[in-house]
Amino acid sequence: MSRLKAPRGTFDVLPPDGRRRLRLLQLAEEVLGRAGYEYFESPVFEETELFARGVGESTDIVQKEMFTFEDKGGRSLTLRPEATAAVCRAYVEHGMHKLAQPVKLWTWGPFFRHEAPQAGRYRQFTQVDAEVLGSQEPSVDAELILLLAEILEQAGVEGTRLRLSSLGTAESRRQYADELRAYLREHEGDLSMEVRERIDANPLRAFDSDHEGTRTVMRSAPVLIERLDPDDAEHFEEVKALLDDAGLRYEVDHTLVRGLDYYTRTVFEFESDRLGAQRGVGGGGRYDGLIEQLGGPPTPGNGWAAGIERILLAAHGGPAEDRRPVYIAVAKPGLRRDAFRVARELRAGGVATELEQAGRSMKGQFKQADRIGARATVIVGDELELKDMDSGEQRQVADAAEVLRLVGA
Ligand code: ATP
Ligand code: MG
Repeated sequence: MSRLKAPRGTFDVLPPDGRRRLRLLQLAEEVLGRAGYEYFESPVFEETELFARGVGESTDIVQKEMFTFEDKGGRSLTLRPEATAAVCRAYVEHGMHKLAQPVKLWTWGPFFRHEAPQAGRYRQFTQVDAEVLGSQEPSVDAELILLLAEILEQAGVEGTRLRLSSLGTAESRRQYADELRAYLREHEGDLSMEVRERIDANPLRAFDSDHEGTRTVMRSAPVLIERLDPDDAEHFEEVKALLDDAGLRYEVDHTLVRGLDYYTRTVFEFESDRLGAQRGVGGGGRYDGLIEQLGGPPTPGNGWAAGIERILLAAHGGPAEDRRPVYIAVAKPGLRRDAFRVARELRAGGVATELEQAGRSMKGQFKQADRIGARATVIVGDELELKDMDSGEQRQVADAAEVLRLVGA
């Protein structure tokens, strides 16, 4: 019988990775919670139509990457490839426009895209995601960017670069897209098949191409950022000024094209040069037309998503210190129940405690204490003894309460 394996493009989280992920979750909660963002969750699958409408028919995600299936009632469902569409759906479904605006939300969880698996690119991956609904203020754009920058920095992500642009409003983009289409048609012979096929549907994607001929053509292409309406241009200036005040470095990059069709105004992406081909750590932008597109009241929106696996790949060591446990060694088999009780009492007192549970010899138990980096070992014998694993000092103690006093929480 062939051995069973995790499905292609998926992975198990094994120690010590599990701990790094939980610490990152805590970090996100701290940073986002401090800025007034509330945690929310949405289902892991949604009606397929939500993503077709909310992500956009012409995107790679909808065209190639969705895990779509039929349920027993014949409904078409899709494992969520991203969070924004579901957040907007929930905002409309629960009438959140009646709440004080803006509504600030964040979430964390698994997402699914049918892609060719490689380092940093999986079919099931994890995102942390923040969204702000109901405000046009440039301060929302700047706040979101700064919060992601803070999370990445505190997570220890190295070699980051922030690319920033503005796509204007849907209307100025339409005008610009016509201009760009005309330009692309003039140079059709030099473009890749893929770009040529998308001239009508999504000419902006031509800036994304790796194709040599296309890249040459695009170097002289008209640039959206020089065609913005005065309002949009002013909005973008304000976002940049707020980032400048905060001392965050960025590069304005007019070739930045985000995967979603409905981005408006600010778009951005953080990359890390530690990641090789899968450089994108996280990104997002404004989507002022999306909620209306999904049947809600006209509502501005803005948000980002960052990949947890890529953050951890690009992070040196990872956030925060490891907690060092106290190890409970059992000197005689007859004392296992006493040892169990001491472990319970230390844990109840808030001390990370690990108990001998493998029938090791005394020597084996000290080895194990070293292996797990214990800061102290309690030896449960005829007497109770406490050994400091750093100094090697050993002393007799009366009970678990005294151990607690000596090692602290
Ligand atoms: P890429 O250009 O790498 O395909 P993307 O533009 O499709 O990224 P987004 O939709 O912006 O990515 O998702 C936000 C973040 O989620 C990415 O920056 C990345 O960190 C992570 N991410 C996206 N797709 C995957 C994947 N298949 N595996 C792991 N992480 C991913
Ligand atoms: Mg992608």
